[in-house]
Amino acid sequence: MSLFQAQGLVKRFGGLVATDNVSIAVEPGEIHALIGPNGAGKSTLVNLISGLLPLDAGRLELDGVELTALPPHQRVRAGLSRCFQVTSVFRGDSVRSNLLLAAQAHAGSSFRFLSRRAGEQALMETALGLAEKVGLSDVLDRTAGTLPHGVQRKLDVALALAARPKLLLLDEPMAGMGPEDSLQMVALIEKLRAEAAILLIEHDMDAVFQLADRISVLVYGKVLTSGDAEHVKGHPEVQAVYLGT
Ligand code: ADP
Ligand code: MG
Repeated sequence: MSLFQAQGLVKRFGGLVATDNVSIAVEPGEIHALIGPNGAGKSTLVNLISGLLPLDAGRLELDGVELTALPPHQRVRAGLSRCFQVTSVFRGDSVRSNLLLAAQAHAGSSFRFLSRRAGEQALMETALGLAEKVGLSDVLDRTAGTLPHGVQRKLDVALALAARPKLLLLDEPMAGMGPEDSLQMVALIEKLRAEAAILLIEHDMDAVFQLADRISVLVYGKVLTSGDAEHVKGHPEVQAVYLGT
């Protein structure tokens, strides 16, 4: 059974059907990329999945738990975590504080039997582990808002990882990055595959073709086709509506 299943999702904005009966699944360990031209409905789909927008119809399930009626924070608790297209870090705080806050927010009651001191120690270890994972160990004392864009995006990813997600939603993680930062982000996402399945929305086609096990192409709110890189590259309608533009 799939780790994540979205079935028959529908979202209308007035007369516009932004999400038109979309079904999409993510398997355990899979990187599933979602591509499509501007206005295809990619961000709407991510907002429906994370719960920021209410569905008009459809069903969502993650690891056997139905998410459809859950508010966003309960979807996070069920194992769904997202990274925003707009950076979500607390800009005035240090990288360390950002990571500590995120670790604390998701610790729940897991440290309740520890002394205060041991609890703080455990949170710090979690925060440092997150920094290590995304490559931020050298900038822990820097103010988040003063870091270069590419480094802030890594912090975004670390904050999403703090929730220990089963499925990570990445909405254009390479947006606004130069080639070097993009390569680093590709390497990071490849590494994250070991921790969570990933639904990746991305404009950078090189990155998508490099990372994705499966690619779904969204056009006018509908899934046009779904398959591996070879399938998508060879699909005549995809070439016409997307790769050709
Ligand atoms: P993408 O992320 O693929 O560029 P979006 O999901 O942002 O596409 O948008 C899909 C369509 O829905 C577009 O036509 C857009 O104008 C429309 N849309 C998105 N959000 C809203 C909204 N809150 N109200 C009305 N129309 C919207
Ligand atoms: Mg978008």
